Amino acid sequence: MTEKTFVEELRQIVGKANVLDGSVDLQLYQYDGFLEERRPEAVAFVHSTEEVARVVEVCNRHGRPFVPRGGGTNLTGGTIPFKGGLVIEMIRMNRILEVDCTSLWARVQPGLFNLELGNALAPMGYQFLPDPASQKAATLGGNVAENAGGPHCFKYGVTTNHILGMTVVQADGQVVQLGGTAPDPLGYDLPGVFVGSEGTFGICTEIVAKIARLPESVKTLLAIYDTIDAGSRTVSAIVAAGMIPATLEMMDQLVIQAVEASLHCGLPLDCATVLLIEVDGLRDDLELQAKAIEDLCLAHGAREVRQAKDDTERNLLWAGRRGAFGAVARLAPSFLVCDGTVPRTALPEAIRKVAEVALKYDLRIPNVFHAGDGNLHPLILFDWRDADQKARVLKAGMEILALCASLGGTISGEHGVGLEKLEAMRLVLSEADIETQRRVKRTFDPRNLANPGKMFPAPEEVVCAQ
Ligand SMILES: Cc1cc2nc3c(=O)[nH]c(=O)nc-3n(C[C@H](O)[C@H](O)[C@H](O)COP(=O)(O)OP(=O)(O)OC[C@H]3O[C@@H](n4cnc5c(N)ncnc54)[C@H](O)[C@@H]3O)c2cc1C
Repeated sequence: MTEKTFVEELRQIVGKANVLDGSVDLQLYQYDGFLEERRPEAVAFVHSTEEVARVVEVCNRHGRPFVPRGGGTNLTGGTIPFKGGLVIEMIRMNRILEVDCTSLWARVQPGLFNLELGNALAPMGYQFLPDPASQKAATLGGNVAENAGGPHCFKYGVTTNHILGMTVVQADGQVVQLGGTAPDPLGYDLPGVFVGSEGTFGICTEIVAKIARLPESVKTLLAIYDTIDAGSRTVSAIVAAGMIPATLEMMDQLVIQAVEASLHCGLPLDCATVLLIEVDGLRDDLELQAKAIEDLCLAHGAREVRQAKDDTERNLLWAGRRGAFGAVARLAPSFLVCDGTVPRTALPEAIRKVAEVALKYDLRIPNVFHAGDGNLHPLILFDWRDADQKARVLKAGMEILALCASLGGTISGEHGVGLEKLEAMRLVLSEADIETQRRVKRTFDPRNLANPGKMFPAPEEVVCAQ
């Protein structure tokens, strides 16, 4: 009876057609990019801050947890309704509300896809810099909640560096403004606290994002190597020489072969690795920068360095890099994307150790990574129908995170913690560190209704229905 009332109350707010509670519909919302699954009790599509606030208020009254969902592309179980309850689907709040090219910000709704913001800004000569490889399907709300990175974040920083403010429906349904259009928010840096909170503090319903001029010119280089060691040594050498390219991306042979088979980008199939390097800025300066980088690549063992001749060649190379995860799907029925970081100088050792993990667990692990940031993405291939393989994959994933931590890195470069890395948090944080973070959660969400069970290992607060 109570359950019916919960769903009926939701329907009164968002309309009958905007609440799903049939079992086939709900099945679609029990997954994201991670390996776990859990079915929600209902899904509500929301269209405004007011609707979100009213829906959250109903969740509070009924003691139901809720999970905001954007594109559902996160790779760590962030949108899986681990404790049941309501999935709040943000995808229809997808408008650009205002762009101010003088003060350099755009006010947008959170369900807007990252690429759509880029496409709208480009004709005006502007861009939003965080560019996750999933940008076609990942929303700004998801980018904020995961503090997403991307190839260009090596030079320009991750999402938190590009958010000025937001409107948030807190876990009790109250609407607040964190920051605004001015660069220095008063009081504590609450936009900074909210970014990366993975839906555990509440729901952002509007975002003020910094925008930047598009660079006058761009040059894209592809350095080709016969050993991974040589490629990864070059990454450190470029940074040590005082150069900060816009991107420094790496793909290994298995990934290159999968990309070529599906996207035909002209990558060499016989090399061990390629580095995709882009420099951007004033036209006059770029020739020199590109030449200096080419020389460094050759000095560190590149067998060849190609330069994209025009936008068509450049776009093709980027299609390959951005399409790498999708292309790897042709190598196995499933794969787990690991996301850890190591200091750049430790890249060669980290890659060698990942290969040892692959041998130990008898698994194939191709690599694609944001090498400039030391952000590894070993992709552990397996068949999800085989329980033994899945168990080995989870162990191998944990071992890779442990090796990142032991090399002085950390367990999440950009994909967040979600459900996947709850226990791995203990590899880098002490119990006191974790408890301090839990206290922040309790301040925002004392009843633990907003995306419970994520980010921090137990002990955890209990959902207390009124
Ligand atoms: C092929 C592929 C490539 C990827 N490449 C990258 C990459 O280069 N860099 C990178 O950082 N990530 C990458 N990712 C991971 C993922 O795309 C990002 O984490 C992205 O930011 C998630 O956006 P989303 O809209 O899909 O969010 P979802 O997956 O829907 O949600 C992610 C988290 O955000 C919360 N959330 C969603 N909307 C809101 C909101 N409005 N308010 C509060 N919380 C909210 C959810 O509860 C969840 O915890 C990749 C994923 C794939 C599948």
